[in-house]
Amino acid sequence: MDSQIHKIHQQLVNKEFSCTNLVQEKLNLLKQNTHNTVNNLLDNLALNLAAKVDAKIANNEPIGLLEGIPFGIKDVYMVQGTFTTASSNLLKNYKAAYTATAIQKLLDAGAIPIVKENCDSFGHGSSSENTIFGAVKNAINPDLVGGGSSGGSAVNVAKDYTVFSIGGDTGGSVRQPAGYNHVYGLKPTYGRISRYGLMAYASSTDCVGPIAKSVGDILIVLNVMSGKDAKDQTSYVSEAISEESILNSTDIKSVGYFKSFIESEAIDSKIKADFLATIEKIKAKNIEVKELDFFKSNILVSTYYTLAMAETASNLSRLDGSNYGNRIDNKNLKESYAITRSENFSEETKRRIVGGNQVLSQGFSDEIYLKGLALRDAISDNFEKDFKEVDIIVSPVTPNTPPKIGNSLKDPHAMYLSDAYTVGFSLGQLPTLTIPQGTETGLQITAAKNNDELVLKFANFLKDTI
Ligand code: GLN
Repeated sequence: MDSQIHKIHQQLVNKEFSCTNLVQEKLNLLKQNTHNTVNNLLDNLALNLAAKVDAKIANNEPIGLLEGIPFGIKDVYMVQGTFTTASSNLLKNYKAAYTATAIQKLLDAGAIPIVKENCDSFGHGSSSENTIFGAVKNAINPDLVGGGSSGGSAVNVAKDYTVFSIGGDTGGSVRQPAGYNHVYGLKPTYGRISRYGLMAYASSTDCVGPIAKSVGDILIVLNVMSGKDAKDQTSYVSEAISEESILNSTDIKSVGYFKSFIESEAIDSKIKADFLATIEKIKAKNIEVKELDFFKSNILVSTYYTLAMAETASNLSRLDGSNYGNRIDNKNLKESYAITRSENFSEETKRRIVGGNQVLSQGFSDEIYLKGLALRDAISDNFEKDFKEVDIIVSPVTPNTPPKIGNSLKDPHAMYLSDAYTVGFSLGQLPTLTIPQGTETGLQITAAKNNDELVLKFANFLKDTI
């Protein structure tokens, strides 16, 4: 199986280059890069860790598979003692007091964090333009957006500035930028990886997600980060997925896709044609393909944004300049809160806080918020029914190709609609992987809850099939 991690591990062990050289080379690339992927470089920390790996190799001590592998971290994860800004003015000078569980597990395995990566502020966005560090530029065409919100992470992987990166996916933020930059990005089953230390956006769909250049590397990183964590009560115990188990996909007999996605007027004609051609290639392998009924994408988008805005308004209420963030003092406490929040949050974040508080307010919550929750249950029931009929669901990642830099900021509503194909799987809390094949912006592969293994299997199968 293709795996950069295995390859680099072997090169380190064979002393083809030192870990210090490897890390320094990546740091140089990041420093020189013009795609705006970097919020902060972790050069001192990374070079210290690399020297320790080199000392072990020089002593002929064994090193673990991830030991010495340089990786990137979306700037919404706590890494103790480092700037953790969420690409926002509010937290521009904030240094994390502790380290996120998922990141700690990677550190314990010896992986080397080299960069905190640019993203949409607090995960709010689909283009990585909602950031104080400058719009992230697409890896393939720098006039286009990098996608979002984990844009910096996807571009870093695509450009080989990092071997893998850890993004966060609430409604598509790992899968969509992975698709826009032609790499792999996984949103695991909700709860498979602890969210402790990932800045909360919409807690009921927030997921930690790896971005990498192969299924094999996604699997390695997923296994290390997974597991129950006492600090996140929604996390659960899971078995590691073996590399052998994903090599054989004969148990995948049927695949479904949503008619409503493909028949939508919003889909780009080339993406549609490529998707349908992919379906034919799957059929040619004697896999049964079924068309499935599903909610229209505008219902998915409005349900998702209703709930996500409600949750983010609640989660971000703690950011008032008292315990965290740049405080702006004013004539009394209430005014200080108001000015701190209105000056330091971006337009997009404020839109979501106002929207979310409206959704939750007396007189509106029954009609809007509770309706959103009921729709979410109906969406989950629909998925449950579908997975009695098919093993896997495939879908395009996005209805359109990446927009030009600047366009999404002008039309937030169009930006929300561009999430049409990713948000449903988030509401269902299902494992979903973007692969860089099938359409110009990739293909999503989804299975029933806790079936992350099946998703990786099918991705491995499609690698040679389409
Ligand atoms: N684009 C979606 C949003 O803005 C998803 C973002 C995310 O997954 N963090 O909500």
